[in-house]
Amino acid sequence: MVVLGLQLVDGFGRVARKLRLSVTDRCNFRCDFCMPLNPVWIPHREILTYEEMARIVRILVSMGVTKIRLSGGEPLMRRDIEKGIKMLREIPGVEHISMTTNGYFLAEKAEALKRAGLDSVTVSLHSLKPERFEEIVGRKDVFSKVLEGIDKARKVGLEPVKINCVITRGCNDDEILDFVELGRASALVIRFIEYMPFDGRHMWSPEKLVSGAEIIARIQERYELERLPREPGSTSVGYRFKDGGKGMVNIITSMTQPFCGDCDRIRLSADGKIVPCLFSRDEYDVKSLLRGGASDEEIAEFIRRSYRRKFAGVEALIKSGRVQPLIRPMHTIGG
Ligand code: SAM
Ligand code: SF4
Repeated sequence: MVVLGLQLVDGFGRVARKLRLSVTDRCNFRCDFCMPLNPVWIPHREILTYEEMARIVRILVSMGVTKIRLSGGEPLMRRDIEKGIKMLREIPGVEHISMTTNGYFLAEKAEALKRAGLDSVTVSLHSLKPERFEEIVGRKDVFSKVLEGIDKARKVGLEPVKINCVITRGCNDDEILDFVELGRASALVIRFIEYMPFDGRHMWSPEKLVSGAEIIARIQERYELERLPREPGSTSVGYRFKDGGKGMVNIITSMTQPFCGDCDRIRLSADGKIVPCLFSRDEYDVKSLLRGGASDEEIAEFIRRSYRRKFAGVEALIKSGRVQPLIRPMHTIGG
């Protein structure tokens, strides 16, 4: 039983409530905006075991973290992921467990994931054109499996199923309204994500970025939208259709309007590093303490000190144009 108390507060008074937990850096896809051409994988012995993850989560929960999002790499590539979810589910104080996945293994795993205690799922789908999708993710014959995964997730009640779509100019920005129609027809939440320079191939450029404002303007040419109040700490802004249409649109403006001021996230990498902010290279090796016999109190104090140093926010960095060389590829930390 861990009784540690004291919230996780950074130097700007922001309090951590949500954990992004990367369970693996491995992935079966090679999305061009994410994976380097020749990824170097973290050796297996360096990856946290489920027991180690659960111990850190227990400590984080004792400090006020209540929601966990599993990510990667591809979280469904991690062996026995259901076992990991079950262990997290059994921790008193964990209120919600979600997962971001590429969807490839979802049809076969959805039932077991739900049974293990997963609450909801976000599936990444960047094109509704099979050939284009497969070009983006660098894999053949995968599109229909991802669609099957989305379908199955809904059938087993992994609600809400959300769709993550990274919009890149000249690649899939002509499909914004197609995604909106999918959302309305299937009552899905479509999350449009601004392209961020976390790409292992360094393909990002400002010209390829389609801003949230532009995405909204394009949607408004067809449908009137009502902007909903943003939940504190949320990375996105939600919009409803004024004509009462089903589904919803979420816009993630990490580049043009980042919400760093009330950020409530902390990240744990697959190899056991506390990463207070996605946009900063700062990381703190909690695994060494774990494996070195530290007590829960010592680990908690280490996390608290690490989190206190959390980076102010990304605005200044974006304005300076220095973002790209400073940050890591997305698959190593989980988005
Ligand atoms: N493999 C899973 C997936 O693709 O959903 C989870 C990990 S992935 C790194 C997490 C999210 O980050 C996905 O929705 C993915 O599309 C998004 N992502 C990856 N690279 C990105 C980039 N350069 N800019 C914006 N979003 C990105
Ligand atoms: Fe894999 Fe997800 Fe990165 Fe695509 S975005 S390469 S599916 S980790």
